[in-house]
Amino acid sequence: MELIDGKATAAKIKEEIAAEVEQIVANGGKRPHLAAILVGHDGGSETYVKNKVLACEKCGFKSTLLRFEDDITEEQLLAEVDKLNKDADVDGFIVQLPLPKHISEQKVIEAIDYRKDVDGFHPINVGRMAIGLPCYISATPKGILELLRRYNVPTSGKKCVILGRSNIVGKPMAQLMMQKQYGDSTVTVCHSRSENLKKECLEADIIIAAIGRPDFVTADMVKEGATVIDVGTTRVPDATKKNGFRLNGDVKFDEVAPKCSFITPVPGGVGPMTICMLMMNTLSAGKKEFYK
Ligand code: NAP
Repeated sequence: MELIDGKATAAKIKEEIAAEVEQIVANGGKRPHLAAILVGHDGGSETYVKNKVLACEKCGFKSTLLRFEDDITEEQLLAEVDKLNKDADVDGFIVQLPLPKHISEQKVIEAIDYRKDVDGFHPINVGRMAIGLPCYISATPKGILELLRRYNVPTSGKKCVILGRSNIVGKPMAQLMMQKQYGDSTVTVCHSRSENLKKECLEADIIIAAIGRPDFVTADMVKEGATVIDVGTTRVPDATKKNGFRLNGDVKFDEVAPKCSFITPVPGGVGPMTICMLMMNTLSAGKKEFYK
């Protein structure tokens, strides 16, 4: 069994990005610039944005954080998005989700210029991803592809079962694993209505679990030699931890790991790759790799 170390891989990728940025700047090019909009004071969002800004520093990017109180109107927020769309110095930007209830997230996502949409949530990027055109791929599925690639996990022609069909993980993951240029796998997607889910999993060479149900995937659902990617991150109470909780994956790691060829831990697997892939997308934005 080989443990897929997302933390070490993410650190290495950030070093690679930083080296490329210094090369670009040394050659007279522009330092990539990521902007982030944060609305309100949600604890989780504060932490995510803080970590994104820190990652920008590690990668040698310029970063700008724009903060607004949660009474900002939808119209005002859309005007801020428009400003960033028109700011030639900003290569890419994100609007940290979730937004307050009175603001339509979909409206905001669609207001972002798709050429600067480094989160890859705009329907143009989602559509281009689905038909295999160059585009920003959203961070979590992109990070999983990168882990599979860097660990040389065989995917072509393999049976891949994806648990979960959310717009941010399950659906894009299925699209990517199916495509010839990425996973090239035979893909099955299971969800809360799926019959024979255990049977599907038992036939899988690769299981990607993204359902948010702690310890859902048990050893009796996994075939010998399978690769298991655990996307789940659920906070469960844990008195032994300083903050009173631990992050629990969708996979019962201790009993599943011995059966696997490769497996990701939680934490330290898929999670650290997510911000790192935002950095990769920002580098692509700076290089105008996908769009002029
Ligand atoms: P989500 O939007 O809540 O969707 C969950 C999916 O799982 C749905 O498709 C649901 O089916 C399915 N599901 C729920 N219970 C099930 C069951 N008992 N059997 C089969 N399918 C079931 O979740 P998400 O946003 O994709 O997130 C999933 C997990 O990944 C969460 O723990 C989240 O915190 C984590 N996550 C981690 C990262 C990271 O960077 N590490 C990023 C994103 C998400 P229905 O469609 O039928 O309801």
